[in-house]
Amino acid sequence: MSNSPLVNCVVRSPNHSGNRTKTIDTITVHCMAGNLSVESCGALFAKSSRQASSNYGIGSDGRIGLYVDEANRSWCTSSSANDQRAITIEVANTEAKHPWPVSDKAYAALVKLCVDICKRNNIKRLVWSTAKNTRINHLDGCNMTVHRDYAAKACPGDYLYDRHAQLAAAVNSQLGGKTTPATGSGASVVSGSPSTGSKSDEKIIWDFLMGKIGNACGVAGLMGNLFAESALRSDNLQNTYEKKLGYSDDEYTAAVDCGDYTNFVKDSAGYGLAQWTHWSRKQGLLNYAKAQKKSICDLSMQLGYLYKELSESYKTVLSTLKKATSVQEASDVVLTKFERPANQNDSVKNTRASHGQKYYDAYADSKPEEKPVTTELAFAIGDTVQFTGTKHYTSSNANNAKSCKPGKAKVTAVAKNGKHQYHLVRVSGAGSTVYGWVNAADVAAIDASVKKGSKVKVKRGAKTYTGGNLAAFVYLTVYDVIEVSGDRVVIGKGKAVTAAMKAEDLIVQ
Ligand SMILES: [Zn+2]
Repeated sequence: MSNSPLVNCVVRSPNHSGNRTKTIDTITVHCMAGNLSVESCGALFAKSSRQASSNYGIGSDGRIGLYVDEANRSWCTSSSANDQRAITIEVANTEAKHPWPVSDKAYAALVKLCVDICKRNNIKRLVWSTAKNTRINHLDGCNMTVHRDYAAKACPGDYLYDRHAQLAAAVNSQLGGKTTPATGSGASVVSGSPSTGSKSDEKIIWDFLMGKIGNACGVAGLMGNLFAESALRSDNLQNTYEKKLGYSDDEYTAAVDCGDYTNFVKDSAGYGLAQWTHWSRKQGLLNYAKAQKKSICDLSMQLGYLYKELSESYKTVLSTLKKATSVQEASDVVLTKFERPANQNDSVKNTRASHGQKYYDAYADSKPEEKPVTTELAFAIGDTVQFTGTKHYTSSNANNAKSCKPGKAKVTAVAKNGKHQYHLVRVSGAGSTVYGWVNAADVAAIDASVKKGSKVKVKRGAKTYTGGNLAAFVYLTVYDVIEVSGDRVVIGKGKAVTAAMKAEDLIVQ
């Protein structure tokens, strides 16, 4: 049994049980609860009085330490059964408080180390579950466990806990032999919302396709197939891949949009209205979405791409749809020449045509309508808002809520027609634990009044309270409000005064 060649420093700990009794098949990521270098963490574990250890440690600088040989069972997770089979990894925290963040360098090193551990120990994929029972019993192939399941601890901290699905996806994409270009930060902001399969979405899809195809039988035949593929949900990730990749529909969509997940094109997972699967078609969809700066799940973007494919690469299918005299005829050509699933037998043909017939019956005589009027949403993707509620949901239409804490958060997706219209991700350090879809009623604007203690920026070109000039960098800096009296506001850094300003020239952050 070998150790990782990625190790930068070795400080062996006496705190272990000797050779493990189980084959390595699990990874348990911990947090150090402090910003320790790999050397100082090693020094702690080197004391036998400490009675604790881990196989590896990762510092905020991305360096990796070895403390207990992989062959041996570390004393890390408060569970002998777990540590007999798991490689344990302690990761340094850049701040010693909730949500226990780690540096980008440490996270990147963690991905590398996990890939290496999996390769050397013949672990084919990492599988994460958000359900404790699934984790501790290793159900459904789950092979990532966390300390909090075995002891009353926050470990590995919410920051890392919430990134376990991403971690698994990043590691798995490299285990698949594919390269993962570094992106992630700096990805451009996208907008858009998915269809949910609701009646109003049906009508939007029908009207769009009628406008292009102009033949009710053809449109119905195409829509019956789309229903069979995705239930007309444009953010639908093929179910078997939800488990494999460790992502829900929402999480996958968000990870693709923000650039955290880079294997969208080649992961062979069906996605969207038509459940695009083949890499060349997913590449086309991704390029199309990027060109429009739309989310990969956006309904109107996907309809545009669907028609682009039909009119450029599937011309025979399109001309059949325009001329078809029955729903069955149209449905069959879509099944056999466009969707081409493995099973195309008569029963599949009939089921798809019968879905199509329902759309024909509902809409064939209808007139195209203006898009249903939906109330404009008050906030957009990228806005920082005050989350005032205590519940979040795993999808925009989910029925069961999970509890979370209110506080500052960022809007990362919107679903105009959803029951829970905003997807929020907490702002680090703001005390909130929200990460999911929330009700519009629970989202408010940040209090924009200037108060003592507020963080503010100075409006571009503004003068001081008495009309004096300010240095250029002042407009780029976030200041603390030190004192407010009437409209006169003193700003600075901590207690060091920078200037007195008019309240109207300040923007609350
Ligand atoms: Zn721990």
